[in-house]
Amino acid sequence: MSQMQCLEINTRFAEELDPEGRWNIFSCYQCKKCSSGCPMERDSDLHPHQIIRMVQMGRKDEALHSKGIWLCISCQTCVSRCPMNVNTPAVIDALRAAVARRETPRSVRKVPIFNRVFLELIRRLGRVYELGMMSAFKLGSQDLFTDIEKFPMMLRKGKLRLIPTLPGRRANLRRIFRATKKASGR
Ligand code: SF4
Ligand code: SF4
Repeated sequence: MSQMQCLEINTRFAEELDPEGRWNIFSCYQCKKCSSGCPMERDSDLHPHQIIRMVQMGRKDEALHSKGIWLCISCQTCVSRCPMNVNTPAVIDALRAAVARRETPRSVRKVPIFNRVFLELIRRLGRVYELGMMSAFKLGSQDLFTDIEKFPMMLRKGKLRLIPTLPGRRANLRRIFRATKKASGR
């Protein structure tokens, strides 16, 4: 990142993500304390402090196409270490929601597809059904053949059930999903 780029502050994207200014995005002064404690730091293309920088600069495409926003496990380490109380996990959540609203490149759209399939199966069945999840994920991501050679071995070892087993008390689970949906206003 060049010196000139560092000075290009653009508030519009940050305002889209955080209209009420609750997450202190512009208080970040790039001390990197967040990134040095982040568990996804090693595997991510952008580190937490860089994600915040992209947002400060209005570099929407880079922020939205980052794999880092999908690797974040919302552990809150970054915000607890931040001297300026920048709410990086909230910014990352907002970036994920923004990605869900637009067409995304193949390289990053697998994670939201996986999340959707996983949650839908939990909602319907009450627990993970691996075979159903794998099939729906592969169809959704249009990637039918990656890791397909592992399939017979997983079947042999009993890692994949052909028929899902259903737990009791699924009504409780459905109530949780309904309440969450209502709380999120969707
Ligand atoms: S710890 Fe806070 S101020 Fe420091 S780089 Fe991270 S977000 Fe910015
Ligand atoms: S909440 Fe996300 S960005 Fe922050 S430290 Fe945890 S994994 Fe890293």
